[in-house]
Amino acid sequence: MAEQDQHEHDETPKVVGEQPDLSKGTARPITVYGNPVLHREVKDVTAFDGELSALIDDMFQSMYAAEGVGLAANQIGVDLKVFVYDCPDDEGVRHIGHVINPVLEEFPKDRKRVLDDGNEGCLSVPTAYAELPRPDYAAVTGQDKDGNPVRVEGTGFFARCLQHETDHLYGFLYIDKLSKRDRKDALRQMAEGTARYATVPNE
Ligand SMILES: [Zn+2]
Repeated sequence: MAEQDQHEHDETPKVVGEQPDLSKGTARPITVYGNPVLHREVKDVTAFDGELSALIDDMFQSMYAAEGVGLAANQIGVDLKVFVYDCPDDEGVRHIGHVINPVLEEFPKDRKRVLDDGNEGCLSVPTAYAELPRPDYAAVTGQDKDGNPVRVEGTGFFARCLQHETDHLYGFLYIDKLSKRDRKDALRQMAEGTARYATVPNE
């Protein structure tokens, strides 16, 4: 997911999660709207090995190179259910991590459903932004790189990120959730802009 522009925090943020070792991994170019790998469900991860760890390293490098706050594996052309994130919530807490085979939990029945109508952007729809209401709370279950079960929950902008990245792995971009008109507008913004990072050209 692309950076949000209006949130600024002066204090050093509290960090939840572990910062990746940036001596590892290589940034790869980002796939963009129209590339088939973004428009279908990708495969479940079944091998929790060194190759998976190396993929996660590359994903962090790619996300940072593109100045994103979240990245799904199909955004670097890899057909596996993995996402990484380094994303603030609305309380200024910085969340860092990865989830393998994520599944979005149903919104809890005992929680008040509050929609956050913030702006959303995506590294795979470069230079476009659109307002998209989403629940301001989300929880995802899945596994870590060693295959251990994990559950990640978030509020505010981080909840948006968890939903956005999980959607990617099932073949959906945020623009698929917009009205026809807003979707068209986002695609026009993309067509008129130029990404500030390396992308994979579409055929
Ligand atoms: Zn995205």
